[in-house]
Amino acid sequence: MDQPVQRVCPHCARISYESGARCPYCGHSFKRGSGLVGMAVLLALFALVVLGGMFLMLVAAGNEADRKLDREVSRVQRNLNDQFDQIQGNVREELDKRLPEATPTP
Ligand SMILES: [Zn+2]
Repeated sequence: MDQPVQRVCPHCARISYESGARCPYCGHSFKRGSGLVGMAVLLALFALVVLGGMFLMLVAAGNEADRKLDREVSRVQRNLNDQFDQIQGNVREELDKRLPEATPTP
């Protein structure tokens, strides 16, 4: 912990080994620059986390919607098949009723 930190002053570009908040040569504050950078990094991380979370939520919602759509589509298809079968049966009955049993061909 007590090891001196080697820092380069962003203002005068001299290396200082003091742990103070200011450069011992020019008095420029180390804190402000690094603080801003830290803030930017934090903001970027925050944005990344938020965006990542939103992306994951969207993906999850999309998957759920896809599953629902799949279920819905297969249900509709089953219904259509049933109805088609019914119609076919009705038509056949109707045809059977209307057609004479034996069609005499001349
Ligand atoms: Zn300096």
